Amino acid sequence: MDRAHLAERARDCAAALAAQGVHAVALTWVDNAGITRVKSVPTGRLPEAAAWGAGMSSVFDVFCLDDSVTTSRHIGGPTGDLRLHPDLDRLTVLAAQPGWAWAPVDRWTQEGEPHTACQRRFARTMMEWAAAAGLTLRMAFEVEWFLGADAEEPRPAGTGPAYGMNRLVALSDYGDDLLAALAAQGVAVEQYHPEYSPGQLELSVAATDPVAAADANVLVRQTIRAVSARHGLRVSFAPVVIAGQVGNGGHLHFSVRDADGALFAGGAGPYAMTGRGESVLAGVLARLPALCAIGAPGVASYLRLVPQRWAGPYQCWGRENREAGLRFVTGVAGQGDQAANAELKCVDGAANPYLVVGAVCAIVLDSAGAGLRLPAEIAVDPAALPEGDQPPRLPVSLPEAIGRLEADDGLRAAMGEALFDAFLAVRRAEVDLFADAGPAHVAAATRWRY
Ligand code: GLU
Ligand code: MG
Repeated sequence: MDRAHLAERARDCAAALAAQGVHAVALTWVDNAGITRVKSVPTGRLPEAAAWGAGMSSVFDVFCLDDSVTTSRHIGGPTGDLRLHPDLDRLTVLAAQPGWAWAPVDRWTQEGEPHTACQRRFARTMMEWAAAAGLTLRMAFEVEWFLGADAEEPRPAGTGPAYGMNRLVALSDYGDDLLAALAAQGVAVEQYHPEYSPGQLELSVAATDPVAAADANVLVRQTIRAVSARHGLRVSFAPVVIAGQVGNGGHLHFSVRDADGALFAGGAGPYAMTGRGESVLAGVLARLPALCAIGAPGVASYLRLVPQRWAGPYQCWGRENREAGLRFVTGVAGQGDQAANAELKCVDGAANPYLVVGAVCAIVLDSAGAGLRLPAEIAVDPAALPEGDQPPRLPVSLPEAIGRLEADDGLRAAMGEALFDAFLAVRRAEVDLFADAGPAHVAAATRWRY
């Protein structure tokens, strides 16, 4: 780390921010509970923070959904400190929070070493390992959210039919403010629409590199939160807002290229996948149960991950199949090889996006050259098949998903012991937290946390 260079760059950034009326910079990271935590510095302190970091306890790696604190083999307890270093390349003036800018951070030790349990570092390392193997990944998260009247009880704002223009009209100024804020922040929005559940909306963004996709997920969510607050509305990205209803997905789209081009198009495999493309998808599909612990990491996630809600609760793949954990998207005929991608349907809003992109990169890296073959496609609603013909369900509970992740030596090695252990400790603590809780209690306790 070249501290002098960082300070110098940050001085220029701070001067530019000050000229735009920015008084403070929010420095965020996402913890193992999937919650975005923050420290902020006055704009004039940005050079100091860039060079030396802002202090934050390492115990946040074992913070839980309800702010209780667990412990793990390598991390826990009240002692120790880390330094939060803003990524100046991502510094963004927040359009819906006048006076504020934002940057995601990497976490370093006081000794000037990268923190081994830093989730963003994990994501970047996996992206770099994939690049070193000649693989370039593009990713994008979809964001679904519930918009509620500003009250404890989830009363939907902007009622009206699913996907209905009524809802868009009722929230016309809201939608305009949101899209304007995201445009001002340089976020490339692709679509915005009302979703299925009462008060539910969705927004999708253009694909970028994996770390940028995770950063964009954080930025989009906090922008949605800020615009909603300005309209007196409340937001939930939780997996389920009301138990028994369709929940909030946070689907991850991804595609891979190597030196010869796209892996999911132009080949001789299913839907023109290349052999390496098929192997990648077969690898992801085989390890989807373990990935669930990362992508659907909450007790509440398993209230969402049930059949016939388009959450993708089956361990199968299918072209445009919204019930498949792995949905293959070819794009429209004539769009060329840029459009084909795969969608991980099982990911939800409780997931840490850095862990999701890092884990997917790691699995892609493991499987691209492994010569794996996909099982038969499931081209119908799996629930409509005779019971004996249905594909396996993905984990139906968090303990089951945890067990699958614990058994995935590849992800353990990729994440490293400190991060893997701390993450699992937080997952287990959440299981304990809700040991005696019914669905309505879990939904209520989770609803306003994400
Ligand atoms: N809300 C659904 C979910 O829980 C997804 C709906 C869709 O396919 O966009 O993932
Ligand atoms: Mg959707």
